[in-house]
Amino acid sequence: MPAQRVQHIAEANATLLSFIETWDRYRHDPEVADFAFGNPQEPAIEGFGRALAAVTAPTDKHHYEYKRSEDEPRRSVAEHLEAWRGQPFEPEDIALTPGAFGAIAVAMTALIDPGEEVIYQIPPWFFYESMVASVGGVPVGVPVRDDDYDLDLDAIAAAISERTRMIIVNTPHSPTGRIYPPATLQRLAEILTEASERVGSPIYLLSDEPYSRLVFSNAAFTSPAQYYPNTLISYSYGKILLTPGQRIGWLALSPDMPDREAMRNAVFMAQIAGGWLFPSAIMQYAIDDLEGLSIDLVELERKRDRFVEELTSMGYELRSPEGTFYLWVRSPDPDDVAFMERLAEEKVLVLPGTTCESPGHFRISLTATPDMIERSLPVFRKANA
Ligand code: PLP
Repeated sequence: MPAQRVQHIAEANATLLSFIETWDRYRHDPEVADFAFGNPQEPAIEGFGRALAAVTAPTDKHHYEYKRSEDEPRRSVAEHLEAWRGQPFEPEDIALTPGAFGAIAVAMTALIDPGEEVIYQIPPWFFYESMVASVGGVPVGVPVRDDDYDLDLDAIAAAISERTRMIIVNTPHSPTGRIYPPATLQRLAEILTEASERVGSPIYLLSDEPYSRLVFSNAAFTSPAQYYPNTLISYSYGKILLTPGQRIGWLALSPDMPDREAMRNAVFMAQIAGGWLFPSAIMQYAIDDLEGLSIDLVELERKRDRFVEELTSMGYELRSPEGTFYLWVRSPDPDDVAFMERLAEEKVLVLPGTTCESPGHFRISLTATPDMIERSLPVFRKANA
């Protein structure tokens, strides 16, 4: 008989899995405009294949042996991160993981004991709840502000209890595209510091930042790690390179974190216990080259602007995103699943908000091609007529 927590995991994933069944029914039709997930709709950027090909030939007998977080890629990530963020990350602070997904799993195993609470924003990335459940934690969702999608700091403060162990802050935020401003992060740090003192043990902040390089030209990204010492950062290369099938990312400890040695060890233990949660040898060798690559952000911004302008002119309610590659739109039909199905019949696929605990909305992924966007516009217009 499966473990009881599998029931919780199944319930947490039910709406997403049900949507995936619909998506699978439609998505292979070449005439479909697929905006459902952050998947590539065109072949990967050229440099990606070249970076991988360059490191496949074994240079010695160690090339394909078991890999932990290797020294060279760790050093490369720490240097890039320090140059980017201005904080003195050390290679030992970097755990290489299979994407941000792996990094989140590692952070949870390292930090959460059964019965401890993890706060996250609603709408969330759909897998947080089941990942918290998988370590026996208790998920506590707190809605973002309705008007501007910023963190609702009063609601977060009210949600903190004696058992709160972690808060996940996802910025740039999927699905709303909001980047939380420095003033919000500073105030959040104050709230968490006060609460940690009150509770008598640290509340950790997991800053989930897979979209931190996907920032539009009118915005700037700030990490919560700049303000709160007990921060861990999860990152994935799968977004900026649009290659989510090749699992590579990292979990970084803030250089300001106290007791870092103990935490480095806890992270390593969690990687082992989680089933050797390290990226493949190839991905680790390629990381230095991958650091220099990106999808075309100018083209992405063009797609954002075109879509936002058109949808707004059709009467859809949406806020232009500051980061990520998503648009978060209010569904004209409060039944977002029924709305999604109507669009699907017209060969346009969007993600219903119920998959992100937010009925009455839908998400569009801008990883679709410009041609898909143009084809979809009459369908969106008709659906809101
Ligand atoms: N966190 C958020 C907010 C995401 O949107 C995703 C992917 O969609 C992940 C984590 C996991 O990223 P990856 O699959 O590249 O590891």
